[in-house]
Amino acid sequence: MTIRKRLTVLFTAGIAGLLLFFSLIIYWSLANDREDEYYSLLRHTAITKANLLLDAKVTPSVLQLIYRNAENTLFQEEVAIYDTSFRLLYHDAVEIDKVKETRRMINEIVAKKEIRFYQDSLQVVGILYAHRGNLYVITAAANDQQGYDKLRNLEYTLIITFFVAIIFIYFAGQFFASKALQPVSDMVDKVEEITATNLDLRLNEGNGKDEISELAVTFNAMLNRLEQSFDAQKEFVSNISHELRTPLTAMLTELQVTMEKERDNLFYKESIAHAISDAQKLVRLSNSLLDLAKANYDHTEISFKPVRLDEVLLDAQTDVLHNHPSFKVNMIFEKDIEDEQQIAVMGNAYLLRVALMNLIENGCKFSSDNECAVSIGYNDTLSIIRVQDKGIGISEADQKSIFTAFYRGENSEHSKGNGIGLSLSKKIVELHHGIIAVRSVPGAGTTFTISFPHR
Ligand code: ADP
Repeated sequence: MTIRKRLTVLFTAGIAGLLLFFSLIIYWSLANDREDEYYSLLRHTAITKANLLLDAKVTPSVLQLIYRNAENTLFQEEVAIYDTSFRLLYHDAVEIDKVKETRRMINEIVAKKEIRFYQDSLQVVGILYAHRGNLYVITAAANDQQGYDKLRNLEYTLIITFFVAIIFIYFAGQFFASKALQPVSDMVDKVEEITATNLDLRLNEGNGKDEISELAVTFNAMLNRLEQSFDAQKEFVSNISHELRTPLTAMLTELQVTMEKERDNLFYKESIAHAISDAQKLVRLSNSLLDLAKANYDHTEISFKPVRLDEVLLDAQTDVLHNHPSFKVNMIFEKDIEDEQQIAVMGNAYLLRVALMNLIENGCKFSSDNECAVSIGYNDTLSIIRVQDKGIGISEADQKSIFTAFYRGENSEHSKGNGIGLSLSKKIVELHHGIIAVRSVPGAGTTFTISFPHR
């Protein structure tokens, strides 16, 4: 069921319930009034007739004549007067005798002074009437046809009004629900237009105050994030293809030129050396991409164990020096390590080593003396590693972008690389709930600081 239908039905059902409640109250209240009024009328008639008979001395035959000649005898109030020992003194019409009085009934009237009850459709009152020292029991009975007719009319009016009102309310509800949900329908139409090729489309945010606007704002924010990550993915793929194509094309051209004619040994050697260098670039790139993919894994897919950062750091230093024997890496322990918890994290040793190797390699790579210093320390809450060099530094503008995948700074012209290292290191550090920060002065050097919370 659509929300519009549900709202309409709920609204209509609510109002119908209320209308029904009020109709029943009105009907019940008027039915009570009619009953009370008619009992009063019967009582009044009973006393009037008793007075006519006892006071005004109107003869019973005259009273009976009046009764019989009334316009509608069937619904006339029929009065009977007894003394307290059940002797009939007067009866409007013995032959009709609507109320079959019994001794028990007379005794009850004497005991209670007044009784009221229904006999089939007849309303009956029985009263004990005192007149000049004598007690009389009077009963009066009749059918309140007029009152019932009025009640029935009211009943029809209420039923018809109820159904007419419900039909009206249903359509009104449908109209208001459609009006209220119009922005949602517009939103659905707009969202249907949005595909991967036009992720720049946005929803109308309306007045920015109601819930629908809030939804549109939230949806637009989600589209912004989607668009960004979509663009990033596209850029990433095109960067990768570019990075792969450059060494592959170089290798192919080199080999084709070599194959063109007979060459001497030296030429072949040089050509093979170039091809090997290009192949190594490709291997490095594919390794980095593999690591980047690993760092992007779901947390749960990477095995985390307690890891000592000083050990990882020493491993990273050894690996860097193995790959680049000309580099120099100085290790500094800022404080004595009394408790291994001070420099331990829950982490993945392989990924942490990759992150640190990238920083150390960069430090050496971007320094004329190929040297950098790596220090490890801690405070109450953090384990801290700093990779410091006295190299060419990074411009203020570049510092904002160097953690983006494939971004290479303006200072990178003279050193080899593919721009993945820092983005990979940042991913790995964040995967370990750590923070990476850079401080650099162009021409004076760069310091990368990584801090991890204690286990
Ligand atoms: P790559 O080193 O392959 O270019 P990275 O992601 O490791 O890629 O680094 C991105 C950029 O950040 C580098 O191109 C360089 O401009 C800058 N950079 C990183 N580390 C340093 C450093 N220690 N000194 C100067 N520049 C650096």
